[in-house]
Amino acid sequence: MQTTDFIWFDGKMVPWADAQVHVLTHALHYGSAVFEGIRAYACADGTSAVFRLKEHSQRLLNSAKILRLNIPYTVDEISQAILDTLKANKLKEGYIRPLSFVGDGEMGVYPGNNKVRTIIAAWPWGAYLGPEALEMGIRVKTSSFARMHVNTLMSKAKAAGNYVNSILAKIEAKEDGYDEAVMLDTNGFVSEATGENIFIVRDGIVKTTPWTSILGGITRDSIMKVARDLGYTVEEQQFTRDELYIADEAFFTGTAAELTPIREVDNRVIGAGHAGPVTKHLQKEFFRVVKGENPAYADWLSHYTF
Ligand code: PMP
Repeated sequence: MQTTDFIWFDGKMVPWADAQVHVLTHALHYGSAVFEGIRAYACADGTSAVFRLKEHSQRLLNSAKILRLNIPYTVDEISQAILDTLKANKLKEGYIRPLSFVGDGEMGVYPGNNKVRTIIAAWPWGAYLGPEALEMGIRVKTSSFARMHVNTLMSKAKAAGNYVNSILAKIEAKEDGYDEAVMLDTNGFVSEATGENIFIVRDGIVKTTPWTSILGGITRDSIMKVARDLGYTVEEQQFTRDELYIADEAFFTGTAAELTPIREVDNRVIGAGHAGPVTKHLQKEFFRVVKGENPAYADWLSHYTF
């Protein structure tokens, strides 16, 4: 990865190399941490903008509430710290990773009075699923690992521990020669991918899985709004893996993955085997929105300069 100069750490900007913790950090042992993934884009007017900054800061606090982690900052304070981190690192574009975690102290599972610590890092990060993925689409495998039952881990929290499930699925998919895994929920319906939500298109209708066993993706929310504004019918409805196999089009959404077309699932070619017309339309519009080229969505952008 490409490093940058500074990481915001408990309210102070510290040099990248000095942002260290003790090996007995509670979160390192038990996954007691919550995080965010956010992107900033260079805009046509010469400024940069963080996409849906407030919503990401709010989701961080919501994740912390679910885990009973006390983050001593408000949404506005976190949002400001994110902008400060981007400016300190002179990043016109990049990926931002806030993380709040239970620090060292007591070693039991009960986090007790261990201090909750917060960092914000930011660095340049191109297309998450590879440079060709956005254009050509990716090959996906249905995972042998189910997404967590809604009462096993809390999918609406972007919690570090939840990602053990994602790591298992991702390693399996990569080792079997696929780009990404799609997971089913414990009832057998399509849930989400290891770091993305999923959409299908059939007979012109755009469908995504309901907000049950999934993380409430901010890209998912944005795409649903943009698609509706473009006149598409959008449904949040359960679907099965075989409905995915016979979809006209399919794609993933996520901050890192942006809008990535799916060209194959379990060795079945989806549609024409490349990004379909609705996928392309939504992807094009998504990139216009995040780069400030569509004024109708101006309130989704927090502009900054340095
Ligand atoms: N699901 C999971 C499991 C994720 O990790 C992510 C990435 N944050 C998403 C969905 C997509 O969420 P967003 O669009 O807010 O990045």
